[in-house]
Amino acid sequence: MPIKYLLPGGVHKVLTMSYDDGKYEGDKKLVGIFNKYGIKSSFHLNGRNYVPGGWAYDKLDELRELYKGHEVSMHGFTHPFLERLPKSEVIYEMQKDRESLEAFAGYPVRGMSYPFGTHSKQVRDVLEMLDIKYSRTVRATNNFSFPESFLEWHPTCHHKGDIFKKLEDFEKVRANEIYMLYIWGHSYEFNQENTSFTWEEMESFCERASKLEDTWFATNIEIYDYVTAMKRIEISADRKMFYNPSAISVWIDADGEKHELKPGVTKI
Ligand SMILES: [Zn+2]
Repeated sequence: MPIKYLLPGGVHKVLTMSYDDGKYEGDKKLVGIFNKYGIKSSFHLNGRNYVPGGWAYDKLDELRELYKGHEVSMHGFTHPFLERLPKSEVIYEMQKDRESLEAFAGYPVRGMSYPFGTHSKQVRDVLEMLDIKYSRTVRATNNFSFPESFLEWHPTCHHKGDIFKKLEDFEKVRANEIYMLYIWGHSYEFNQENTSFTWEEMESFCERASKLEDTWFATNIEIYDYVTAMKRIEISADRKMFYNPSAISVWIDADGEKHELKPGVTKI
């Protein structure tokens, strides 16, 4: 049997959430629900709101506390269509965003989601050059696969994309591979007149998701970091020795047995 990758702790599934634009009331309510059920999310924010003159600037301490345990991530300093800008403006947008969000969050901010979900080869090249690790699109895969390229990280679906059915399918996956359920949206979209999705539905989704077995609950960047470490594992020709050059453990399945590969060499 082939050696297969597992997720942290030797599980097969990961659930991650991803919310854009950082609206105050909506995010407060949403984080409250996520924290109640142990769900992890990334919040993609626009840096212009977190500098003097921005609406969030007098709430920085409160907001830092709010997003604790989740990921603060980029979304463009001013939320532009990045693919319409000169290259130097893309660089400026991203570096300004990063700088203001890092000053706010207090740690290196390494991920993002594309404003309006749009991008181009030039934009992706700039992000790569700036060492931005991942960026989420708005194109639904409607499946549980991992991204081919983290700079075009397509989510499973938007939260209005029939997520109860997706969750049911995710529960039923009889896992011998690894699977990811990735939901995105905006916290201002709940209970709006033009949308059918309510706060109550979000809460019942999270309650049910919290009972998922064999599942890791992670932010986007935690998934990026783990998958990157996972792909760096080197295996001896006899498949008995493993070299993990990363600083974090990676889990594998070898002939039906789970193994934790700590940093360094592991013999099984
Ligand atoms: Zn946005």
